[in-house]
Amino acid sequence: MSTLRLFYALWPDTALADTLASWAARAQPHSKGRPMRTETLHMTLAFLGAVEQDIAAELVDATPYHRLLPGAVPIDRYGVFARPRILWAGPQHTPEPLQASHDGLWLWLSAFGFTPPPQPFRPHVTLLRNIERPEPPADAPPPVTWRYDRMVLVASESTDGGSRYRVLARSRPQPG
Ligand code: ATP
Ligand code: MG
Repeated sequence: MSTLRLFYALWPDTALADTLASWAARAQPHSKGRPMRTETLHMTLAFLGAVEQDIAAELVDATPYHRLLPGAVPIDRYGVFARPRILWAGPQHTPEPLQASHDGLWLWLSAFGFTPPPQPFRPHVTLLRNIERPEPPADAPPPVTWRYDRMVLVASESTDGGSRYRVLARSRPQPG
């Protein structure tokens, strides 16, 4: 059976995506590398990898009913993942409610047969790929607050021009 490469993420609104793109542009002269397209910027909550079609269909149906508690993440620093050569933006400290949403999402996913990764959650937005410097720029732009109340289920599809993302489902915000 064929599979879909899936992940759950927070998706910024266009204003925040523009701000994040400006963070990428600001770092690029220092870090070099290739900026992610503005419309692809996101914060991954759970990467599922290759998922069988029937399980993917179950996730699409169930995702609207997984309510995230609304929260806010400060985006206040640059960071680097040296081995994959990524420059990212994210919080200095993971907010406890975001950690709880991440943990709760994985607990919910366990009912579908998924197991959480062994590595700790490192919330980040990938800004630049193939960077040429192992350290981030010394100074970050003014911090921004990312307010979120839902997550999206995304399929990552490889094309000739690289990966393309397709939103398959959205969780519903908490009522009230
Ligand atoms: P490409 O890998 O083709 O360059 P991409 O990294 O944008 O493109 P995916 O590899 O499908 O696309 O990843 C989708 C999202 O999941 C990205 O945010 C990526 O950082 C994250 N991700 C990918 N692999 C893992 C992993 N093993 N653990 C955690 N997050 C991952
Ligand atoms: Mg990848």
